[in-house]
Amino acid sequence: MPSLSQTDQEIFPVTSDLNDSGEITIGGCSISQLAEEFGTPLYIYDEETIRHMCRQFMRGFGNEYEPCHVEYSSKAFSNPAVAKIVAEEGLHMDVVTGGELVFAKAAGFPAERLNFHGNNKDRQELGEAIDYGIGRITIDSFYEIELLNDVAGERGVRQKVLLRVSPSVDPHTHMLTTTGVLDSKFGFSIETGAAAEAVEKAVAAENLDVVGLHFHLGSPIFELEPYSQAIDYVMQFAAEMRDRHGLKLDEFNPGGGFAVGYVGEELPPQITEYATEIAQAVRSACDRFGFDEPLLTVEPGRAIVARAGVAVYQVGGIKRIPNVRVYVSVDGGMGDNIRPALYSSEYTVRRAYDPYATPQEKVTIAGKYCESGDYIARDVDLPLLESGDLVCTPTSGAYSVPMASNYNMTTRPAIVMVKDGQARLIRRRETYEDLLATSLV
Ligand SMILES: *Cc1c(COP(=O)(O)O)cnc(C)c1O
Repeated sequence: MPSLSQTDQEIFPVTSDLNDSGEITIGGCSISQLAEEFGTPLYIYDEETIRHMCRQFMRGFGNEYEPCHVEYSSKAFSNPAVAKIVAEEGLHMDVVTGGELVFAKAAGFPAERLNFHGNNKDRQELGEAIDYGIGRITIDSFYEIELLNDVAGERGVRQKVLLRVSPSVDPHTHMLTTTGVLDSKFGFSIETGAAAEAVEKAVAAENLDVVGLHFHLGSPIFELEPYSQAIDYVMQFAAEMRDRHGLKLDEFNPGGGFAVGYVGEELPPQITEYATEIAQAVRSACDRFGFDEPLLTVEPGRAIVARAGVAVYQVGGIKRIPNVRVYVSVDGGMGDNIRPALYSSEYTVRRAYDPYATPQEKVTIAGKYCESGDYIARDVDLPLLESGDLVCTPTSGAYSVPMASNYNMTTRPAIVMVKDGQARLIRRRETYEDLLATSLV
């Protein structure tokens, strides 16, 4: 029986395989069949992998720490079908806008298991969240302390909140996805004294019930140490605030950022390793600073859905510039996955049939958008490709589709969920009518 290579088994969905014709299959469906039925570009999500990752987190952290919540960061892929699976697996979820809240509601996601993040939530969004009975709101600015106190007061609600602090810890990831350093729009800086002032104000606010602290360092974080370093620093701050302002630390949330393997050479720590590091850091800080062990919440986004998603493209024109580069253009690109252009993110690319045929060329998989920076992968070794071939990029399940745009007036791709040889649309491909629907002539 042919099968995927050892490294591909780590980055493709857990159900992936090669069938007897040498084609890659996901969830028992061959990529070419799905492409024929639903067109390309196509995003395929594997239900089994989403559930698998939810369970890895629930067990991985649950075995190390009690009580513990796993909160899926829905911005990684906001979709009602995914929210339903995540809810069934017992996870909590976070949203960062009114729109993401609408998706959570559409999935019937239990309100008490939701947390509202974001550095600039407005009055209407906060009102919608409270009206839905949201479990937690994580406050990110002085403006928001006053605004939320007001919005909650109008409704006669005392809202449970966390304060997002910034611990000035650099997790050594891309500058654009680093969030917990001093020069960041996110969080109240502990270093500058802003966080202390925020605690004082929020604890005193009549309609806010401050249940604990939150921080998020950025993403993806391939090292363990930034977590324990930040946990220690933030817990020390919490102890000071307890003594000075009566802050309670019933809940503690060290964020997400757990890395995934996009290319075989750079594999992240195991979930159990993150869990051990974080649990030990929280426990030892509780010991040192005299806290009862708080409820611990972790917020994986990418790590829940990245591996579940595979993007499929069809090859169009191929340009060979002798001694320079081979450009293989596909029917998608930055409109459905801007990560390579934005963060220089790397992806593995495989031809959908006979993927391990001897590589013939180093090629750049270019998109179809009118930008030179529009590419999916640079200088990847692939078997000879011809126009009409299908190629796929595994680990495309996080932050691709949610950042998709209609640039160049393209229609955003279809998304299917596969399971046990069946595929169902969870988002239909956009049409020209959709593009025209919001513009007035
Ligand atoms: C985006 C985000 C996360 C999730 O990050 P991942 O890298 O997807 O795990 C968690 N918490 C907050 C506050 C975020 O903004």
